[in-house]
Amino acid sequence: ILQITDLRKSYGQTEVLRGVNLRVNAGQLVCVIGPSGSGKSTMLRCCNLLEVPTAGKILANGHDVLDPRTNVNRMRQDVGMVFQQFNLYSHLTAIQNVSLALRKVQKLGRAETKAAALAALERVGLAHKADAMPAQLSGGQQQRVGIARAIALKPKIILFDEPTSALDPELVDDVLGVMRQLRESGMTMLVVTHEMGFAHAAADHVVFMDGGVVVEEGSAADVFEQPRETRTRSFLSRYI
Ligand code: ATP
Ligand code: MG
Repeated sequence: ILQITDLRKSYGQTEVLRGVNLRVNAGQLVCVIGPSGSGKSTMLRCCNLLEVPTAGKILANGHDVLDPRTNVNRMRQDVGMVFQQFNLYSHLTAIQNVSLALRKVQKLGRAETKAAALAALERVGLAHKADAMPAQLSGGQQQRVGIARAIALKPKIILFDEPTSALDPELVDDVLGVMRQLRESGMTMLVVTHEMGFAHAAADHVVFMDGGVVVEEGSAADVFEQPRETRTRSFLSRYI
């Protein structure tokens, strides 16, 4: 459903992505791990054109992302994104945050929008907080609103960029639990994370990036239990 081929991105003289190849099949949860500065966020942001790659090819649900004729808004309906810092509007309630995204991209009536937004909040266990302002919600709840906003649009794949890194440790499991449920419901997900326990337990496929390339990839068991590359081993040893 997502295929990245020889993706390159430079900022000035610095080549941050040096030929990334990555594939996510329908229904898969793929986790991307790797040290700070290895290009994980840049790679993710290229997938929905928040960042414009220097070269390469990205196919997302049939959209040739880098083709100038591609309708970017249409493509972004299929490629959802959840950010580290939630990016909620602080002056809007939870349900308004979800509804706003829905109204912008789908031409639904007011009642239909509200029903769809509430259904999305229900899926992340926050229907009872629909009318709360972001400031009245915990970080974990705010991130679940961020996830509800993404799933309300019925994307074909959701990109997550360190969705739990901004959270207090005791709130992390809530959000990871919602992500596990999503995966069980068949959602396709590409997740950049430092939560090695989650990646090990939940991922169908794990990709280790370092220095702007994919150094190693495989099943969670392969990458975590029998890493082939020295760089993978030394990275993982920091988490034990
Ligand atoms: P982290 O785990 O810290 O989030 P990352 O793997 O997501 O790291 P990126 O954010 O993709 O890494 O950054 C990769 C490299 O690109 C870094 O060296 C960073 O300094 C550089 N970089 C990112 N964005 C820009 C930018 N807008 N201009 C210049 N350099 C950038
Ligand atoms: Mg990052």
